[in-house]
Amino acid sequence: MVSARYLVYVRLTATKALIIGGGIGGLTAAIALRQAGLDVTVFERRQELEEVHSGGGMVLWHNAIRGLRELGLAKQMQAVGSPLQEMEWISSAGRRLASWPVAEMNETFGVAAIGVLRASIHPVLTAALDDGVVQMGVECTGFSQDSNGVTAQFAGGHEEHGDVLIGADGIYSLVRADQLGNEAPRYAGYALSFGVVEAQHELVTRNRFRELGGPGARFIYFPVGGERTYWSAIYVAEESETKGYGGSKAELLPIYDGWPEPVGALLQATDDSVVFRREIFDRKPVKRWGEGRVTLLGDAAHAMTPNLGQGACQAIEDGVVLGKSLGAGGDLVEALRAYEKRRIKRTAGFVNRSWMIGSLGRWKNPVACAVRDQIQRIVFPTVALREQKKAMAYPF
Ligand SMILES: Cc1cc2nc3c(=O)[nH]c(=O)nc-3n(C[C@H](O)[C@H](O)[C@H](O)COP(=O)(O)OP(=O)(O)OC[C@H]3O[C@@H](n4cnc5c(N)ncnc54)[C@H](O)[C@@H]3O)c2cc1C
Repeated sequence: MVSARYLVYVRLTATKALIIGGGIGGLTAAIALRQAGLDVTVFERRQELEEVHSGGGMVLWHNAIRGLRELGLAKQMQAVGSPLQEMEWISSAGRRLASWPVAEMNETFGVAAIGVLRASIHPVLTAALDDGVVQMGVECTGFSQDSNGVTAQFAGGHEEHGDVLIGADGIYSLVRADQLGNEAPRYAGYALSFGVVEAQHELVTRNRFRELGGPGARFIYFPVGGERTYWSAIYVAEESETKGYGGSKAELLPIYDGWPEPVGALLQATDDSVVFRREIFDRKPVKRWGEGRVTLLGDAAHAMTPNLGQGACQAIEDGVVLGKSLGAGGDLVEALRAYEKRRIKRTAGFVNRSWMIGSLGRWKNPVACAVRDQIQRIVFPTVALREQKKAMAYPF
């Protein structure tokens, strides 16, 4: 007699997932789906993975590292970043407003939150996939589905057939446009310039995340592995035609004139050729991510402003949950809807909170800024820290 377990095994090995987009979300999903027994191909339109400077850095919080631990990759990822032990908020007048005991949270969760270069993340993820799973330089141009499966079309004219299609193709997602309509992302009203630098300064330590806030601007810096520090300058700016690509220190120096060190030292130490600028967009939360055999993941589903440092962390959570959902062995379409049910509300919360923090950061009026400082002083070490701890404990 054929056992139920054998039938699940046959169903999954026969299941082919097409993942459009090989960013952090698409690659994590590929690993999770492979581990769940599916046959997976990732189609990525870029020819090369991220470059050290232009990719910048990010924080992978405890929830993301816990997600990677589910996939057996926590140690590898922690090894390429800098473990954080403290997070600190300071006013542009140099007053310490609040801090979070990140070291204590590292103990609680059994993993360390890390600062890491985007360029260091991709190799850890691709090393966990067999050769041929990720196809670089392949651009999806459209897709269709029927009761038998999905067919994706690619530039150059070839097609691929599968059982499910995952749109992990970022904020300007083609898959999202097909499923939810072609609405433009929402401009947040500020730009972010960033640099990666090896700078020696007594205030630049190897384990501290610091955020300075002033009228209409913030400045953040943290270690990202080795001797490198990543800094980002966030400041009120009009939306431009180029969406902010390019970047130079000339725009930043007047904004941060008179701010406490090491702001000036980090800017001075960074070569102008490795300063990059992005205008910041997100997408308002929606109630569904796909139909039938198609769903979304990562920024394609829930692009958020970077104020909570959760965009990639949520993409990693998505991948792990999608793997569990599809790996459970039931109907594929129901498995996609079950994944969305677990993810839509949670990610919408991060989109909305991140948007709100970004809006407060745009305040310029000195009185309003003094009130904001007070709020940070009171709320961050109490309510916000409690919320953070709860959010980091997401049950996979
Ligand atoms: C300045 C900044 C700072 C940030 N800091 C943090 C942080 O500290 N912590 C954090 O967790 N998150 C952070 N984020 C957010 C994080 O970078 C994103 O949420 C995350 O990278 C999204 O990953 P993704 O795989 O969903 O999308 P993407 O990284 O956008 O990947 C999508 C991929 O799809 C490919 N693609 C697109 N269209 C097609 C197509 N038609 N065919 C084939 N391939 C296609 C693209 O080339 C791309 O490689 C930050 C974001 C910004 C802008």
